[in-house]
Parts: sequence; C-alpha cells; structure tokens
Amino acid sequence: CVKAHLKTIPPLCARVLLLCVKRFLEPFRLSQKTLQDISSRLTQDMIKGLGRHSHHKAPVKMLPTFVRATPDGTEKGDFLALDLGGTNFRVLHVRVNEDEKSVLKMDSEICAIPQEIMTGTGEQLFDHIAACLGTFLEKQGLKEQVLPLGFTFSFPCEQKEIDKSILIRWTKGFNCSGVEGRDVVQLLKEAVRRQGDYEIGTVAMVNDTVGTMMSCGYRDQSCEIGMIIGTGTNACYMEEMCNVKRVEGEGGRMCINTEWGGFGDDGSLRDIQTQFDLEVDRSSINPGVHIFEKMISGMYLGEIVRLLLVKMTEDKILFSGKVSEKLRTSGAFLTKFISEIEHGSFQRILSDLGLQWSTADLRAVHLICDTVSSRSAQLCAAALAAVANRIRTNRGLDHLDTTVGVDGTVFKKHPTAELRSMVHKLAPKCTLKFIVSEDGSGKGAAMVTAVAQRIASVSCL
Ligand code: BGC
Ligand code: MG
Repeated sequence: CVKAHLKTIPPLCARVLLLCVKRFLEPFRLSQKTLQDISSRLTQDMIKGLGRHSHHKAPVKMLPTFVRATPDGTEKGDFLALDLGGTNFRVLHVRVNEDEKSVLKMDSEICAIPQEIMTGTGEQLFDHIAACLGTFLEKQGLKEQVLPLGFTFSFPCEQKEIDKSILIRWTKGFNCSGVEGRDVVQLLKEAVRRQGDYEIGTVAMVNDTVGTMMSCGYRDQSCEIGMIIGTGTNACYMEEMCNVKRVEGEGGRMCINTEWGGFGDDGSLRDIQTQFDLEVDRSSINPGVHIFEKMISGMYLGEIVRLLLVKMTEDKILFSGKVSEKLRTSGAFLTKFISEIEHGSFQRILSDLGLQWSTADLRAVHLICDTVSSRSAQLCAAALAAVANRIRTNRGLDHLDTTVGVDGTVFKKHPTAELRSMVHKLAPKCTLKFIVSEDGSGKGAAMVTAVAQRIASVSCL
C-alpha cells in the first residue's frame, strides 16, 4: 500500500505525496450518479415529512410556515425585526415602501449573545433579547409606538399559526434549557412583559429561509425557493396546500420549511459519511442530529478539514509528520480559512496553526480545502435539485423557471459555479435563477409580517 511504502522510503517526492492525499480524499468525491441518488432519497424523505401519519418519524421535517403568499408589491408599513440563529443576534427597524417597491432598513443593531447565554436557561436568553430590543427602541425613539414584529428564529419549529411556533430542537451550538417543546412567541412576549416599559404588536415567526425567499420576492415575484448555506443549512419552497396534510384547506399554496439539515438523521446517508463526518458528529453538542447540515455548513466545514489535516499528518503524509498542539485543538481551523486558502493565502493561517510546510504541503492543503468545499456545494445542489423537481412535478410542468433567494456566508464566500452547474445536471428540466438576498433575516422577516397583515386585512373584508 502506498502509505506503508511512504513510511519506509522518505523523503517523499511531491507527486507521490499528492497521490496519497488524493487517495485519502476519495471518499469525499461523489459521482453524479451518487448525487442523483441522494437527490432521489431526499425527494422520498420530503414526501414522508409531508404525510399526515409519516411525519412524526420523518428526518426531514417539512414544516408548515403559515406563509401562504409571496409579496404582491402592495405591502407597506413600519416593522420591527429580530434575527436569532445566524452569526449574530440583531434588532432592526424596517420600512416597507409600497410606492417605491422598496424595503428599507431604517436602523439596526447587533447584540452579542455571550456563550453562557447560548447554553444557559431559556429565560436568560429571552430576557437578554427583550433587553436588547428595549435598548434599541429607546435609542430610536420608538418606545411609545406599538409596531408589528417579525421574529426570524432560525431553528426547526412546529408552527401552529404564524404567531405560534414550538421549538422542536436547538441546532448550531445553541442549547438553552426549557425552550424545546415551548411556544417561542409566548416566551418572547413574557420576556417583553418582564421588561415592563414597552409593548410589541402582532408577532410573525419566520425561519431565515422563509425571510430570504420573501425578501427576494418583493423584487422578483417568481422567487419561490429560499436557501441558506451559512452557519447551518436549510431551504423552503412553495408547496401546494393539497399536499400539506397537516394543515386544513386544499386550495392555494403554503411555504414549507424543509429543514433539510436533518436529512440522514435516520442513517440514510451512512454510505457517504466519511470517518471524519462521523467524528464531527460524535464530538458535536447534538450527536446524531442534523447529519446533512454537518457535511455542508459553516459551523462544521473547518472542523472536517482540521480532522483531515491531523490524520494525514499522523500518517506522515503532511507536514513531515509533525502535528502541532494548535492543530489538535478542536475548532482551531475556522471555516473561513477554507475560502482564504482557496484564494491562495496560506502563510499566516498555517503559521498561526504552528505548522511548518513544504511547497508540496501547500498544494495538498489547497486540494483538501477544495475537496471539502466542493462536496458541500454538490450536496447542496443535490438537495436543491430535489426541491426544484418537486415544484415542477407538483405543477405538472415540462419545464420550470423559478428563482431561488439565497443567503449565508458559505454561499457568499465560495465559488457558486459548481453548485449551479450540478443543479443544472441533476434537474435538467428546471431553470433556476439565483438572487443573493439582501438581509433576508431582517428585511425578509418584516416582509413576512407585512404579507401576513395584507392577507389578514383582506380576509376581514
Ligand atoms: C436550522 C434551520 C435554519 C438553518 C439555517 C439550521 O440549523 O435548523 O431552521 O434555517 O440552520 O440557518
Ligand atoms: Mg441569518
């Protein structure tokens, strides 16, 4: 075997070294046939998630969002928005302008969520959120107004109504006690009441994918898919009401939050999980949960690369076999290093990691980063193809033209050509246009609230 051979005859020639690295990376390379197969598995899981009886056990939850329409351009008014579950927690004041068809961010503020709050009690978390909101309203001179609020809460929730939303489980490093199984709107309202010096109007709960779809929808009314590839990954799309068995009514459409991050939680992706994926899952705070997300999103990609580097160094393929203390530390290789390395900046990153390298090492590291981020893009493409094909077959169309609103650091920082071309191959009868959302979790949340108000006022007439 090449590895044994290498151990006995140092020094390695660069070509052989690269060959060894390629060997190592083989399990990360997925053929188009495999991707097609994964896409079909997701299609099956989506059907399971929508079913009246099968949804309880479904790994892909297909959650109704109670968003029944995309914007029609007549929405207007002032709104507050909260955004929890991405890189930062934010509070925003947003104005939707009917005349100019514009959504303006009047002002916004980032509030840090300290680590001890992310894993503390739910009451602490919501008190912190309500306090940040209070401070913001005070600064903006809005404390006397009672504005409707869109709450972007980017975690899987079982929604009962637009303003009743029960957290199924935390993801992405959050783990506050006493929130799973509870109505998040209620928890927010109670915390606002405890602040005691301001009020909020009607609340609309929004997943970030939904906000992303809706924020693009004001500009492009054919935007019917929202996708996030950031800290976590997920997508939503417009489904026919007659297929949404858990919500009464047969007519029209409803946006479904797929929660595709949970794809594979029943073991269905076991054949493509590498030993590194298994290890990332094992050492996460939620083992066994969100398997697909852990192969794709920003919270985990850096860690996959780090584990690969450690193993290849231990096997004496890289860095003359010397693993630094830093490289052994979990989380030491940030996901943003991957795109930095793909753009050619190595020196600082590798020396900060306490490593000494040869030119061959550099080429190897580049290849590793490339492979891990490319697998992420291809898996997303397989998932997106499943969603697009579903919309097309739902409508009995030979060809579907639609728009995908996208957001998330991983999508924005990596080349998207691979994602696009793979979706095209896997869903040849769909033409997808991608729009990068401008602040879906902020402006989009306001838009969801605005659309909900428009519909409520129509149904009152
Ligand atoms: C959450 C989703 C969210 C996604 C992107 C996942 O971990 O479960 O609700 O949309 O991250 O933020
Ligand atoms: Mg966000």
